[in-house]
Amino acid sequence: MNIILTGFMATGKSSIGKQLANILGKRYIDVDEIIEKREGRSISQIFAREGEEYFRRVESQVIKEFSGVDGYVISTGGGAVLRKENVQQLRKRGVLICLKAKPEVILERTRDNMERPLLQGAGDKREKIKKLLKKRAPFYSQADIMIDTSSLSVSEAVGKIVKILAPEKLKVRLGERSYPIFIGASIDEIGEIAKDFKIGKKILIISDTNVFPLYGDRVKNSLEEEGYQVRWLQLPPGEKSKSLARARRIYNFCLETELDRTSSILALGGGVVGDVAGFVAATFLRGINFIMVPTTLLSQVDSSVGGKVGVNLPQGKNLVGAFYQPRFVLIDPLVLRTLSFRRMKEGMAEVVKCAIIKNGNFFSYLEGNLAGVMKKDLQTLKTVIATSLRVKIQVVEEDEKEEKGVRQVLNFGHTIAHAIEAVSGFARYTHGEAVAIGMIGAARIGEEMGIFPSTHLERLMKLLRRIRLPTGATGLDSAKILQALKVDKKIREGRLFFVVPQKIGRVHLRDDVPYALVEKVVKELVR
Ligand code: NAD
Repeated sequence: MNIILTGFMATGKSSIGKQLANILGKRYIDVDEIIEKREGRSISQIFAREGEEYFRRVESQVIKEFSGVDGYVISTGGGAVLRKENVQQLRKRGVLICLKAKPEVILERTRDNMERPLLQGAGDKREKIKKLLKKRAPFYSQADIMIDTSSLSVSEAVGKIVKILAPEKLKVRLGERSYPIFIGASIDEIGEIAKDFKIGKKILIISDTNVFPLYGDRVKNSLEEEGYQVRWLQLPPGEKSKSLARARRIYNFCLETELDRTSSILALGGGVVGDVAGFVAATFLRGINFIMVPTTLLSQVDSSVGGKVGVNLPQGKNLVGAFYQPRFVLIDPLVLRTLSFRRMKEGMAEVVKCAIIKNGNFFSYLEGNLAGVMKKDLQTLKTVIATSLRVKIQVVEEDEKEEKGVRQVLNFGHTIAHAIEAVSGFARYTHGEAVAIGMIGAARIGEEMGIFPSTHLERLMKLLRRIRLPTGATGLDSAKILQALKVDKKIREGRLFFVVPQKIGRVHLRDDVPYALVEKVVKELVR
């Protein structure tokens, strides 16, 4: 993977780039230096004689050449990211880091340098810098990582970048079924990581037709470089692939490719791919190795960990399945770049759920850093994924197979959500949207029972609205939702089993929720 440094002039791209390359054992190139060498004149001379447009064309050519190679730290001129094509090229094989600094710091750092073409001419330099920074802000904000170097030394800035880029390792402790999760590792490293596990040489990648064209080759190449024999299978995207018929076709493929007990199935995709691929891994030859590479936020914070695998039956979701833990999970947040806003929101519903059930500080973090998550800032995503998973891991370690009632807390918001999904035919609301409405329902029940403070409910509402998740449903029949809750056996003898919040950061499984209260809250929710 390449590391690309961009950002305004005098933010430290060259000095930080050189030191970073040294520490990471990568080669360093400076796009501006290459242009100067090729043109045999300085950047300011090119600007003066040929104009900015000419310079940008040459810059794009150089970027195109170098973004096809691997293992570089590339520093680009501050205007390189103004062209969409440059950003696309650079990101193909790299992580984009934007360095920034306050206008007064930039002014100070450029004071003795008369060569900066964009600061030439009459007029106040500080104003020029401010104007340019404002114009470029939307382009710089596309970066995966933002580092303010105003008060950092070169080594401090390098240290910060190295820390953000280093994967964080979590462990799920389940005796002999224990496994690590590498958060922030690149999919290009999968081969190297796999080497540390006792698995055979054959790996079958199961993905879908959206994800494989985006990331399949990188995973395949990385595994092949380490000597694995790789085959792959692309499923149609969507819930329909979670079926016994699809599983059967996968078994056939496993037989055709002669997978044996030492072989592995690697799930590259969202929750659908993970669930069906895991189901096949759990059952083919009574169980072969399973590796998870989740690519949606929902699967990164939830479904890839905990071992639930399975398929749907026409009668209902997840009716056939197993608990089958993977050998390891690799989570690369950079693959979320291609995930739609709606799918990001879907994952965020589960993230908020984790915060409500076990971590009040995490909820405050989300309130303060929501913008970073939605713009897919790498460091923020790593924190959000790791913190959500810690909640899930704690619950799974206590109650791996949902036998002790502990794992039920993960169903917070899901009781009403399932009923809404069933009544709306799984069409009107996505699962995440239904969970958001369900969380509000459960929180209102808590509030009415006098155990969940109204101020906490308001915070929950506000956060969900900021994520643009719904806090109520429209156009649904409350009687049907109540009926669906009965079918789901959540209502017994006039009482309801419900995960009810006590405060942000703590929930309780209650079996004494009066039916009349649920009725009142559901009617309110679907108004
Ligand atoms: P999904 O797997 O259907 O993926 C959503 C869509 O995003 C698909 O069209 C997919 O092709 C696409 N996609 C995936 N990664 C992408 C990327 N990086 N860039 C662009 N597009 C991408 O949906 P999901 O929300 O990930 O998972 C939902 C499934 O997960 C449901 O079947 C649900 O039952 C299951 N689930 C399982 C568990 C568990 O513990 N096993 C927990 C929660 C949910």
